[in-house]
Amino acid sequence: MRVCEIFLSIQGESSFVGLPCIFVRMTGCNLRCSYCDTTYAYTEGFYISEEELIEKIESYGVNLVEITGGEPLIQAKEVISLIDRLIKKRFKVLIETNGSVDIQGINPQAIIIMDIKTPGSGMHEKMHFTNLKHLKKDDEIKFIITDKKDYEWSKEIIFSFDLLNKNKILMSPAYGILRPQLLADWIIKDRLFIRLNLQIHKYIYGPEKRGV
Ligand code: SF4
Repeated sequence: MRVCEIFLSIQGESSFVGLPCIFVRMTGCNLRCSYCDTTYAYTEGFYISEEELIEKIESYGVNLVEITGGEPLIQAKEVISLIDRLIKKRFKVLIETNGSVDIQGINPQAIIIMDIKTPGSGMHEKMHFTNLKHLKKDDEIKFIITDKKDYEWSKEIIFSFDLLNKNKILMSPAYGILRPQLLADWIIKDRLFIRLNLQIHKYIYGPEKRGV
């Protein structure tokens, strides 16, 4: 499989925020979001066998692993097999996916963190909304918000698919584009019971630093 980078850092997002976590960033992405902060993952990477990758993951001595990208599910066969092996080895596995690729086949013990791309990303028409019916209660849905229009659009999606009752919902202000305080104020004003999701690794290490 083709991997862009592997590193140990602090989980910056999701309800696992703040925990030490091993990140496996897969190479390649089928989308081109306007605010993408990992464009290097489109093409950079190296080939590694499942065996070698698991050995590397085990060497960190941390139990939480996130498979991310790019879009990891464009290498679905390899990623699904990797997740199965990690779960057998009792790792807690998170997988981040961009919402445009079929998520069926992922081990139900893994936690899926799925984006729903808003209009501000330029990619909202690529969403695969049938994925919503395959998510489990513990899975998380993330909206990245660039402006008030994205926020209102996301609210409509949340209510029309009854997501508040089905999954954990995260809303992130697009870093450097929308001030977190504005999004926080909108959420509070609407009494919207979702989680404000800041990419805390960017606040800790700065937005440009890779491998964190
Ligand atoms: S899905 Fe993620 S990696 Fe792909 S273009 Fe969008 S932000 Fe970048």
